[in-house]
Formats: sequence, C-alpha cells, structure tokens
Amino acid sequence: MRNKEKLQYQIFQNTSFFQIMVSLIIAIVLLVSCTNDVPRYDNETMYQVSTLQSLLDGGYDGHITVEELRNHGDIGVGTFDKIDGEMIVVDGTVYQARYDGSVNIANDSLTVPFANITYFDRDVTIILPKVAGLPDLTARLNEAIREYGASQIYMARMDVANCESIHVRSELPQQKPYRPLAEVLQTDQREFTYMNIGGTIVALYFPDFFDKQNSTGWHLHFLSADKKKGGHIFDITTNDSVTVHIDATPYYKLYMPNVNK
Ligand SMILES: [Zn+2]
Repeated sequence: MRNKEKLQYQIFQNTSFFQIMVSLIIAIVLLVSCTNDVPRYDNETMYQVSTLQSLLDGGYDGHITVEELRNHGDIGVGTFDKIDGEMIVVDGTVYQARYDGSVNIANDSLTVPFANITYFDRDVTIILPKVAGLPDLTARLNEAIREYGASQIYMARMDVANCESIHVRSELPQQKPYRPLAEVLQTDQREFTYMNIGGTIVALYFPDFFDKQNSTGWHLHFLSADKKKGGHIFDITTNDSVTVHIDATPYYKLYMPNVNK
C-alpha cells in the first residue's frame, strides 16, 4: 500500500459507521425536502397564449394550434381563431362552445388567439353547501384560496350533478377588420340559460396585479355532462352542494406572439 492510500485507509478506519450513517441520513433528508419545496415545473405551470389586452384590442387571429396547446395541459379556458366560440378544456379534450349553442370537439388544426391551460393537480378540496349566484360562488372561492395566498394563480374544477340554472354566453366569429372586443360583445354575443343541467365548471383565477395580462379574479367556463352545451358563465345557482377541487399553479409561462408583424 502506498503512503497516500494508507492514509485514506486509516481515515476510513477512524470514521465510525455511526458517523457515515448520520451523514447519509442528513443527505437523504436534504434531498427529500428539496424536492418537496420545489414543485414539478411541467405539472405546476399555467401556460398562456397571448394577453387579455391583445384580445380586448381585437387580436383575434390564432397563434398556435389546438394540437400544440394540448401539449401544455389537460384543463383550461380560452377562445378560437376569429373568436369562434368559447374554449373549455376538460380531461385533455378541447371543446368549442359556439354562438348557436352547439358544442363540438375542436379540430386539432384550429388555431388559438388567447387561452390558459395547465395540468390539473388537486391541492385543495372544498365543499360549498349550495351556490346562490356567481358573486356568491366567487366570494366563497376567494375565501377558500385566501389561506393559500391570493397572490398566485389557481385553476379550479367543479363537477356539478345538477345546476338549478346556469347562464352562459358565446359569440359569433369575426371578420377583418376586427372591432375591439367590447364592441363585438354588444352586437355579437349570444346568451343561453339552461335549467336542471349537470356538467363541469372550469374556473381560472389570476391575482389583481395581472390586470391587462389576464382577467383578474375568477373566470369560469361550463361544459354540460353530455358535452352538448357550454360557454362562458354569467350566472349559476345550484340546489345541492358543490365540491370544488383547486390547483395552485406556482409557475406561469406566457407565449406572447408579435401581433403587429
Ligand atoms: Zn370566458
């Protein structure tokens, strides 16, 4: 044995088995605590196409395909090229609720001017006794997220067996030159009220300081259980309790296309 090897051997001999085990345990604890503190990026990211401000200004041309959007999550809300309907993404399928009240599975080649999508990971579950309107629902959702932090982004999912009533809207596809969204909605919005209907509600929450980048507070879309009705929710009441699953999404990824090119 050479001198250096002899020295290393002696050091090893002097290091007790107990010391080695303690070091190993500390290393494992550190590793586990690190992985717990940092959530998985791909599962915990809210992906967004373009900005609300762009949509409000008439940015209705699609930027990415539905197929590409589906690579970023399995639950979401948005709209389609020319604002041809409201988008509801449930369990990885992209649904298109159109101005005539119909709903179809969106073709993969359709493009998307504005949307949010994430992979649903349930963090919190709350049960609401019953819902007495949209302001009541959003107030109680706000209460639920307060303790987890109202300054982050959330996606919520509610599977409602029976809504007493639900009031939704969609809009007609637009032709160029595009008018601003507020103007379009005055003439081309179509509203529908459904009674005693079950379905899934997808709800997106952005904090106040995201103003212009997205709708702040809660933004809800509906898809009926038979996947034949849906849209952007204006109002909702239920007779029964509603279970709400909430997913906090600490990462945010914005795709901001150059709309002026
Ligand atoms: Zn909407």
